[in-house]
Amino acid sequence: MSVLVAGAGPAGLLVAAELALAGVGVRVVDRLPARSAFCRGFTLNARSLELLDRRGLAGRFLAEGPTVPFTMFADPSRPLDLTTLASDHPYVLGIPQTRTEELLEQWLAELGVPVEWGHEVVGLRAGDTGVDVTLAPGGTVRADYLVGCDGSRSTVRKLAGIGFPGTDATRFGLLADVELADPEALPFGMTTGVDGTVFAIPRPGYLRVVIDEPHPPEDRDTPVTLDYFQRQLDRVLGYRVELRAPRWLSRFSDAARQADRYVAGRVMLAGDAAHVHPPAGAVGVNVALADAMNLGWKLAATVRGHAPAGLLGTYDDERRSSGAVVLRTTRAQSVLGDPDPRLDPVRELLAELAALPQVNDYLVELVTGVGTRYDMGVPGEHPWLGRLVPDLGLVVDGEPTSLARLLRPGRPVLLWFAERPPRVPGTVVLCRAECPVHPGIEGILVRPDGFAAWISTAADPQPQSTLDAALATWCAPPPSLAG
Ligand SMILES: Cc1cc2nc3c(=O)[nH]c(=O)nc-3n(C[C@H](O)[C@H](O)[C@H](O)COP(=O)(O)OP(=O)(O)OC[C@H]3O[C@@H](n4cnc5c(N)ncnc54)[C@H](O)[C@@H]3O)c2cc1C
Repeated sequence: MSVLVAGAGPAGLLVAAELALAGVGVRVVDRLPARSAFCRGFTLNARSLELLDRRGLAGRFLAEGPTVPFTMFADPSRPLDLTTLASDHPYVLGIPQTRTEELLEQWLAELGVPVEWGHEVVGLRAGDTGVDVTLAPGGTVRADYLVGCDGSRSTVRKLAGIGFPGTDATRFGLLADVELADPEALPFGMTTGVDGTVFAIPRPGYLRVVIDEPHPPEDRDTPVTLDYFQRQLDRVLGYRVELRAPRWLSRFSDAARQADRYVAGRVMLAGDAAHVHPPAGAVGVNVALADAMNLGWKLAATVRGHAPAGLLGTYDDERRSSGAVVLRTTRAQSVLGDPDPRLDPVRELLAELAALPQVNDYLVELVTGVGTRYDMGVPGEHPWLGRLVPDLGLVVDGEPTSLARLLRPGRPVLLWFAERPPRVPGTVVLCRAECPVHPGIEGILVRPDGFAAWISTAADPQPQSTLDAALATWCAPPPSLAG
């Protein structure tokens, strides 16, 4: 087996699918006996939908729930407008995380890889040529690479000795998926009580109730019982709203930590295993998918032997700096959510700023990840360079198509709109295309994850040497095809 993926959450499922798509042998194990029925997240954002679109999958997800053209930064009462977001999907999709995972698992099964439930990673020994991974049950198996997608308490991260520096929790919250004895007793949205606020979010067949927990027990792993949650809710409200039929009771915090390496030799981390942050903005699934999409094709090229030197290292560079932005953004929102009245002037000022279109646009690019720009190491002034290229409408061989469609096989694509196309390595799809909406573009090298690695335009022409440099950085040819 080439790659073992630990964890069948969003990160593990997508990274495994990317590997399978590239023809790499992959196993996915998860310690749970079956997918958990508890649903944590309920959203997919613009960036996730764009990425899923590059594999022809967005439609499956969009069929599952409503979309809303707004998101938030810190203050749920002042939504940010997404309609001006430079995205193919300028909205948030409401979809239970469990359903997202089911759809990803289905995609993985279509690619021939079943999830192996009930197998926990309990040991690993990484060497220069592979990783010996101990599974319980299952014994020791050998993989060329191990990807730890095993969540915030990642065993893989700990066993690999990867540091997880950051800040400890200072604020705690409680969450209860419950029903109300009297359905009218608590309105949806925010209710201000005598000792804090209550958020009541309608979910299919139940209510998610979220409150602060100013004095958590010494042992933060103490299970949250319905009785305990009821008492905390009564305290916040100052009156009793009777809860019943608990489905899931949980505690969360504003702890923020990030792995000090995402790649440690033959062991990699993605998703919550690599970063934890305050829940503000509900982005964890989305960041996990962005990690997976960035890692998958790079690891696949490495396994298949045609990766340029250092390609895996760019996963570490790109996603660790993106993760740092997520930590900063969620921490900022968490601070702004502190009920301390001394923060009121800051909140008011931010609300005034966010009402300005430019600030709105800046914030929505930040919280959705749509503003993500990687350093491609080549010159160029085009605004798409280093960013996800929009799903361009194209004409190829007289037939209409689109960039997202061309990217479905997960290979790099050189779109060439001018005369005399260059020679490219055999791993790259060279596509002579017309792009009626953007007639000034001469060529774009698009990585398998949809990011522009090189662009030449009539206004900003780039010499062949810069294209060669980009090809050598992202898509070196297999030795048999070199030269
Ligand atoms: C209450 C709550 C609400 C949230 N709401 C949202 C939201 O609306 N939108 C959003 O984007 N994000 C949300 N999040 C965050 C989101 O749930 C996580 O960020 C996301 O699940 C991370 O995905 P992952 O694949 O990295 O890890 P996980 O989903 O945690 O998956 C890790 C998997 O690894 C398995 N595993 C663990 N240890 C081992 C082992 N040793 N061996 C094998 N398998 C193992 C686990 O069983 C699990 O299946 C929310 C989180 C919480 C707690």
